[in-house]
Order: sequence, then C-alpha cells, then structure tokens
Amino acid sequence: MKKVMTMAAACALAFGMRPAAQTDAVKAASDALGAANVKTLQFTASGANFSVGQNFTPSEPWPRVTVKSYTASINYDTGSMRQELVREMGTTMPRGGGAPFTGEQRQVQVVSGNFAWNMAPGPQAGAPPQAAAAAGNAVERMLLVWATPQGFVKAATANNATTKKGKGGTEVSFTVGGKYKMTGVINARNEVERVQTWIDQPIVGDMLVETVYSDYKDFGGVRFPAHIAQSQDGFPALDLTVASVTANPAVDITVPDNVRSAQPPPVRVESAKLADGVFYLTGGTHHSLAVEMKDHIVLVDTPQTEQRALAVIAKAKEVIPNKPIRFVVTSHHHWDHLGGIRAAMDEGATIVTHQSNKAFLERVAKTPHTINPDRLASSKKSLKIQTVGAKGVLTDGTRTVELHLLTNYEHTGDMLVVYLPKEKILAEPDAYTSPATPTTPLVVTAVPYAAALYDNIQRLKLDVQTIAPFHGGRTTTVAELAKSAGKGGAN
Ligand SMILES: [Zn+2]
Repeated sequence: MKKVMTMAAACALAFGMRPAAQTDAVKAASDALGAANVKTLQFTASGANFSVGQNFTPSEPWPRVTVKSYTASINYDTGSMRQELVREMGTTMPRGGGAPFTGEQRQVQVVSGNFAWNMAPGPQAGAPPQAAAAAGNAVERMLLVWATPQGFVKAATANNATTKKGKGGTEVSFTVGGKYKMTGVINARNEVERVQTWIDQPIVGDMLVETVYSDYKDFGGVRFPAHIAQSQDGFPALDLTVASVTANPAVDITVPDNVRSAQPPPVRVESAKLADGVFYLTGGTHHSLAVEMKDHIVLVDTPQTEQRALAVIAKAKEVIPNKPIRFVVTSHHHWDHLGGIRAAMDEGATIVTHQSNKAFLERVAKTPHTINPDRLASSKKSLKIQTVGAKGVLTDGTRTVELHLLTNYEHTGDMLVVYLPKEKILAEPDAYTSPATPTTPLVVTAVPYAAALYDNIQRLKLDVQTIAPFHGGRTTTVAELAKSAGKGGAN
C-alpha cells in the first residue's frame, strides 16, 4: 500500500502536479456549491437565445430572440434535463434566418442519457413526444447538464479530472462519455467561472460551446450564478438572468417508449424532371437542383448533413449518368442548407458561392473534425472556390445557369437564386415556400420574404414559368408568388 502511494506521488510529481492540489480545487468548488447534496436542481430565468447558423452574413452574430421565461429542471443522478422556454418575437423579426414565428412560442426540450425529445406545447400538449431529429441533440443537451456549475464539479469528480494552475484560477479538464472533452476554470472564490466543451457540427467541425457564469449569489441556500452567457462558434447563443434556484425538487424524467424505439428517418432523395436535363431533387425537408451540362453536372445545394449530401450527389449521378459533378452552387451560408458542403468539397467540385462567404468557406474546408470525422477530414482535399457578386453565369455554350443575388432581402445577405433563362426555371430556398395548396394562405411572417423575391424577379426582369422552392412539396408560379406576397393582379 505504502509503495503504491509513493508511486502515485512520484508519477504526479513527474507531471509537475501535486495530487493534493488536483482534487483541492474541485473539492473546494464542490463544497462551495453544495454539489454533493444537490441531486436535482431547478432554475428559472429570462433573457435571450439566438438562432445558431442563421446569421445575416457569416461574420455577424446569430439573430437574437427574446426568451420571456426559461425553466431548467435537472436530475444529476439520471443525467436528465427538461428545458421549457417561452420565446417572444418583437414587432420586427431580427435580420437573418431561423424558423419564423409571431407572438409567443413555447418549446419543451428534454434529454435523458442518449435520448433527446421535444414535447408539443399549447393545444397539442397531449400529443406524443417527438424524438429530436438531429443525432447531435442528445449530446448537446447532455453536455449542457454537465456544464452547469454543480454538474461540472460532479462530472469532474466522476471522470477523474486533471487540474493545473491557469489564468484566473484552476483549469479543470476531463472527458465525458469517453469522447467529449470538457475544460473549466474554477476561480479563487471556488466558483465555476467558465466551461468549454466541443460538439460535432457538420460544417464547422469540432464546435466550441463556451458557457460563462458570473454574479454568483445565494439563492435560498444554493450558490448559483445570476448570469449565464453561452456562445457557440464564437457568437452569443444563450444569455440568461437567473431569477430563482431550487435544490432537490422532484424531477422525474423517463424516456417515452416511442422515443426509445424511434429510428432515424431514412434519407430519401426523389427526383422530378423539370425540363430536359434539369432535375428537382426532393424527398426530405431541403431540396436541391441538378443541371446537366455538356460534360458535367451543376448541383445546387448540398443541405443538412454529409449523409444527405452524399445521397443527393448519388441521385444527381443516377439521373445524369457518366458525368462528374464539377460545380456545386451553395445558395446561401445558412447551416441547414450548407450542412453537406464538405461532402461537395470532398467530391472535388468547385464551390460556387457569393463573395461574402469566401473566408467562411475557406475556414470550413480546414476546420478540424475529430469528434465525428467526415470524408473530407481524411481526404484533406483542398478547396476549389469560385465567387459571385451581383450576378454569375455558368455555361457550356448551350445551357446557361444564371446566379442572381437578391437585394433588400432580410433573411440573408448572400442569397443566390438560380435562373435557367431558356427553361424559364427559378430555383430558390427560403424566400418563398409555396403553401400546401394554392388556396392555403402563406404564414404571415413569410410574406416579407415572398414580396422581396417578387420584387427581385421584377427588378432583374426574369421571365419565370416555374419556381422550384427548396422547401415544401411542389413547384409553383410567379402568379401564385405574387398573390402570396400581396402583389395581387401583377404578372
Ligand atoms: Zn436560410
């Protein structure tokens, strides 16, 4: 026994750390935060959350949405958490993307272990829970549990954290779930001041999620920060002012059967021929367009994930056989439409994008993907990029593909719509999604975008017979767009 202890001491000394100091900082924080006695925790707050991946330009912050109320209920013993948010849209929507809504919107997001799900709020409150679609949701939410101050010291203790003296306090590092690195700073007041973790994101790779805790107070016997500020990929993602904290309330979260047995929906790509050599690729929530050129294919948008992009690329090659995909046009930089861009880079295609995205895509091509390595992470192909200003043209002498930048368009600053002058086809994401049937009214928040698209079509004098939206279920016409946009009678 004595010998073992001496060995341990020797090893620790070899790394320049004293074993006592290692556990001291975590233990002191644990004592100050009462972590050992906190099995469950609930806190209420208000502030803002932000639409990550939906900024107006790649260098601007994520669009801000007010959070009128926020309640987190955590059970540390079972590794589960329920977050209830009421978000509130002001009179003007923030510039940029994000699912549009008006008034108030309630969200209920739950995680337990490897399962994440959402509950339908309001009138559908009795509806069965929906398994959270993205595989990363459970990881992201699980890491949120262990990033809370009490959670962090519990996880540090359970995962044999290492410590070292750093700027502003003791740096504590460990790995959760054998895969996810967490580091934090415990300051001189024994408070968890900052927690960093990294999650896999298809575009920016190992994405930094950093949470900063400040203004610690005694909330009825529990020390907890009055201010929580989280950033994702360098921009604010959540900003909360805490109103109340309750230690050890009843928090019973069980994984619903339908969530436990849910299978991720298969990736489906369907194709519809819009004209000779022009294919509308649908089947999911985000569509693409494949255009046959003399000796190659032009593909517009590789959305969502690498998996979706690979299926879209395969379908394009199936409907247009024996030709390489030489150009992949990315309509705009929003992450839902850009998720498969690294698969397009790996394919060896030249990425065609608005000039304002060049620096961002150069970063995307090189960003580390160690948590969930993708094809480009191993092929390390170098980026081929071609940028477009107000207008770009791809042509083989016979077929012409025009790219036009939308102006006065609040959704994004870099939206390129794709126009085929000979075929009179316009492909566009997000500006206009035709309602389920021609008589269904357009949701009110989408009207400004539809109006902007209509105005741009007039400004550019485009002769459009078919609009192929990248969301929704069907192609449409300028007449229907005009009607939805409140431009009745025109065209
Ligand atoms: Zn968008």
